[in-house]
Amino acid sequence: MLVTLIIPMLNESGGVPFLWSRLTDVASKLADDQFETVFVDDGSTDNTAALIEQLSVTPTLSWKLVQLSRNFGHQAAISAGMMQASGEAMIFLDADLQDPPELIPVFLEKFRGGYDVVYGVRKNRKEPLWLRACFGIFYRLFNAISERPIPLDAGEFGLVSRRVGKLIAEMPERDRLIRGMRSWVGFKQIGIPYDRPERHAGTSSYSISRRVEGALDGLFGYSKVPIRLAFYFGVLVFLLGGAYLLQSYMMMFITGDTGVIGWRSVITLIFMLGGANLIATAIVGEYVCRIYFQGKQRPLYVVEKTLSSENN
Ligand code: UDP
Ligand code: MG
Repeated sequence: MLVTLIIPMLNESGGVPFLWSRLTDVASKLADDQFETVFVDDGSTDNTAALIEQLSVTPTLSWKLVQLSRNFGHQAAISAGMMQASGEAMIFLDADLQDPPELIPVFLEKFRGGYDVVYGVRKNRKEPLWLRACFGIFYRLFNAISERPIPLDAGEFGLVSRRVGKLIAEMPERDRLIRGMRSWVGFKQIGIPYDRPERHAGTSSYSISRRVEGALDGLFGYSKVPIRLAFYFGVLVFLLGGAYLLQSYMMMFITGDTGVIGWRSVITLIFMLGGANLIATAIVGEYVCRIYFQGKQRPLYVVEKTLSSENN
């Protein structure tokens, strides 16, 4: 069986030889299968691509290199790799060896057992506590409000069958969270727990702001709940305002006092309503933005060139 390994790469030169030797080991133990590795160079500025071109192949392990014209982001890079995949199954893994290639046989076994989607579930995260807490909050919030939950603590690391891969690759949306799309597709899915080690070399290219952006993409891209909340909140504030007005007129009639009292509460209300307005507008804006970018129908990425070990 031909299996495609899809590996997005941004400045991963420090890890390429180690990654390749681990993959070679795994492939040599699975001699009945053929492995085609699709490296997607997502606009690296180091010599990642040059190192890949030097990799030596074995009878069961070959490589392709898809070079994007600039950095398009992790999710777009995986999508670019999926378009080049010819295997019966596709396996996504990171280049930094945080996704241990030794799990590949386990994924394949489940695939042969009839699962269309097999994904790794991180047992223990090595990230700092505060980051882990943020991830925990995000996944739980996401699942509480999203149309379709995604498994807790699972990233892209995992296997999808050719049909699921094709479905995901052909989804036209721009806000791509592959773990979300993968869960949406359905079919038989299963999670495999594993220990996630630290990066082998280099540093994570995800800054805090990029992670926040990813989280917002996930929340707004997969859920109508934020905009609904804004609506309900707006209704609540409106009704409270009405009740307040009624109450103050009644008090005026009862006590006969029309003096300039309560200016503090007026100011408070102005601030609160202004804030509520801003929140609601921002939420609408989030969705409008997404419609705008989707409407542009730009390609998700641009391939500069492709190379493969066969014609290298
Ligand atoms: N990556 C990529 N494009 C990007 C950012 C990351 O192709 O814009 C790759 C990166 O080389 C790695 C994988 O995506 O193989 C995961 O990135 P990283 O290790 O930085 O993320 P983390 O593991 O910290 O979430
Ligand atoms: Mg990593």
